Amino acid sequence: MADLLVRGARLLLAPIEEGDCLVRGGHIAALGQVPPSTIPPNCPVLDAAGRYLAPGFIDMHVHGGGGADFMDAKPEAIRTITAFHAAHGTTTLLAAIIPAPMDRMRQAMAAVAEVTEPGIAGLYLEGPFVSRAKKGAFNPRWLRSPSVRTFRKLVEGHQNLVKVVTFAPERPKADQLLANILAIGALPAIGHTAATYEQAMDALAHGARHFTHLGNAMSDLHHREPGAVGAALDSDAYVELICDGIHLHPAFVRLIAEVKGYERICLITDAIAAAGLPDGEFALGDLPVFVHQGIARLSNGTLAGSTLTMNRAVKNFMKFTGCSLPEAVRCATLNPARLLGIDERKGSLGVGKDADLVIFDDDFNVHYTILGGKIVYARED
Ligand code: FE
Repeated sequence: MADLLVRGARLLLAPIEEGDCLVRGGHIAALGQVPPSTIPPNCPVLDAAGRYLAPGFIDMHVHGGGGADFMDAKPEAIRTITAFHAAHGTTTLLAAIIPAPMDRMRQAMAAVAEVTEPGIAGLYLEGPFVSRAKKGAFNPRWLRSPSVRTFRKLVEGHQNLVKVVTFAPERPKADQLLANILAIGALPAIGHTAATYEQAMDALAHGARHFTHLGNAMSDLHHREPGAVGAALDSDAYVELICDGIHLHPAFVRLIAEVKGYERICLITDAIAAAGLPDGEFALGDLPVFVHQGIARLSNGTLAGSTLTMNRAVKNFMKFTGCSLPEAVRCATLNPARLLGIDERKGSLGVGKDADLVIFDDDFNVHYTILGGKIVYARED
């Protein structure tokens, strides 16, 4: 793997605030003052003066981008999606699989398993064992009651690749499903749920520790029934936030940050195929989606994923909460890395960590994205 020297950057999520970063063999070999004697001859140099060098963004909830969807189940589609999001600073993502006929879900999972894309850390099963009342943009036809047998059939052969499974804890036999999600080493996520506060807290007591797009498609905070949102606020669980300014009111984001702090929030895009394309008609699964002014909706007006990118998510989150840049970047890097158990290699800058890097400017324009030491995106300017 090619060597690379990033010179004179403002460093984020690093032991020091400013300096150089030497990349060798796909890893960070040195940070800070890199002695000239350790720099290999003809080492390519990226001048990052005045710009930020951060760990690459980790977007744990992505449906698509650049016109492609993981449900297309095609290698080209998968490469289109990772390339699109790399251009906005994402170096690690989970491929979201939505409720569909069993063979279609399995085809999409198999396609991700077959394409060895370094930017994909696994699968995010957003259902199908979720609530009809909180179906969001899913076709209700493909939702299922929790069943261990069906779950085992669904994940068979891909147990190691499945990292997150969204489920509705209030549905009958959800407890058995939860135990089986844990048994394959995946993270049970409460979402697309009408759970009461008690039902959600009970699921947390039994091993769930994450909430799928908090606030969207779940029981709201009510003063007599705090719902799933109340359980998220009243626990140590991680939460996803879609900070496009549409899915969540900025004040909601600010209040969540006040209560949860900056160690439990994971910024996600929930991006669909339409991300990065002009307004028009697209699809989420087998339902048509209409994108107007960048907002994706079903024909009935229900929000259907986003056209958000991670650099904008970080920028918006900072604006909505008034937090510092390192706090915002942490919600897009270290927090999801910890939740997914990949923080030894990813999510921060340090000697020996994977050279998954993003260089961006004060306005969050991404100039370079580096994945495993290789430049995978360079802005033309
Ligand atoms: Fe989603």
